[in-house]
Amino acid sequence: MRQSQLFTKTQKEAPKDEVSNNAQLLIRAGFIYKEMAGVYTYLPLGLKVFEKIKNIVREEMNAIEGQEMLMTTLQDPEVWKKSGRWVEESENETSGLPWFKTKLSSGVELGIGNTHEEALASIMSHHINSYKDLPKYAYQFQNKFRNELRAKSGIMRAREFVMKDLYSFTRTMEELEAYYERAAEAYLKIFNRVGLGEVTYRTFASGGAFSKFSDEFQTLSEAGEDTIYVDENKRIAVNKEVYTDEVLKEVGLDKSKLVEKKAIEVGNIFKLGTKYAEAEGLMYTDEEGNQNPVVMGSYGIGLGRVLGTVVEVHNDEKGIVWPEAIAPFQVHLVGLGNKDDVISAADKLYDELISAGIEVLYDDRDEGAGKKFADSDLIGIPNRIVISEKTLANKQVEYKKRTEDDVEMIDLEKITTKFK
Ligand code: ATP
Ligand code: MG
Repeated sequence: MRQSQLFTKTQKEAPKDEVSNNAQLLIRAGFIYKEMAGVYTYLPLGLKVFEKIKNIVREEMNAIEGQEMLMTTLQDPEVWKKSGRWVEESENETSGLPWFKTKLSSGVELGIGNTHEEALASIMSHHINSYKDLPKYAYQFQNKFRNELRAKSGIMRAREFVMKDLYSFTRTMEELEAYYERAAEAYLKIFNRVGLGEVTYRTFASGGAFSKFSDEFQTLSEAGEDTIYVDENKRIAVNKEVYTDEVLKEVGLDKSKLVEKKAIEVGNIFKLGTKYAEAEGLMYTDEEGNQNPVVMGSYGIGLGRVLGTVVEVHNDEKGIVWPEAIAPFQVHLVGLGNKDDVISAADKLYDELISAGIEVLYDDRDEGAGKKFADSDLIGIPNRIVISEKTLANKQVEYKKRTEDDVEMIDLEKITTKFK
């Protein structure tokens, strides 16, 4: 894409009320726009990254037999009353389900979805009857709305955000346990692929109705709202909320080997047991003809939470440093000067890179080198190619990785092969 055509501009300053590093950088670089506290729009550059993360998550969910669907935001209160989670908005802080609710013009109340266990169990009750119909796994990328009390972490804690939520439907607890481990592995693959692998730990956290623990995926960062205790050798951690001597013994961790760290919860998986199936009448007939409630699990990842976390982990004083796999573009081609021969050589190289299937942002704007370099560092594309009168004198370009300081001179005719 030609940068002269991009409608977003970079900014020197982020909004004064924006305290988080991720949102400050993303706003300044033109990836997101802050509508209000906890509510952000993804601009073209931001959407590119968002979609790349989404595709990685989708590939890994498809690999564990997830079937993609898309559920509604508007929720029928009756479905939620059955499980007892249609809690009053005044209980938002204590119940852990920070509802937004709305009304039809007739005055009838509706929910604005914050999670979908109940709704999907209810749908599944129309499709699952027998043990032969199980196991099944379904997921979606869907906007969740949560009336979060505090929204100081930028896109990592939004009041409207897209979650990938997968739900498993199995016959037995054993079948759930086995799938749960596959899902945990898929999660580690996802965090690896988006560039958070080294700093993300599977973490024992408070469970739900049916199991003592849930598993969180926690990424080490000073910007994190959680405190965890990490065993770096075993690559396992315990959330402070369940950190007791008894728990450490139970999970086989040695207190003297644990290090206290701040961390961001990028994902969370739960064994739900039969609670929601029982509430919503999701039953199956087993081989003996008996009726049993379906055993469920739920598996969530916030895409914006992941994107914001990547920015928190990968930045420097000049801007964002995108990991290759989710960068908005692979190459930032920067043309310097407005001499005709430079412009035509840069145009030609741009066409050549595009024809080779490389994603390029081409800074063809009529701006000085200082502004172009500053913007390039702020936007954070992994590879920068500079073409100028000086480099052309030797039929070369200047190449630099965003993660490195040193530049390399490469022959103009060889540069494209570097990205194949
Ligand atoms: P937290 O403890 O951070 O409030 P949670 O435990 O309530 O999150 P879950 O219900 O476990 O969140 O949601 C699954 C995933 O969705 C989280 O692991 C996180 O990646 C993401 N997520 C949750 N709340 C938000 C939010 N307000 N903004 C962005 N992503 C979120
Ligand atoms: Mg959670």
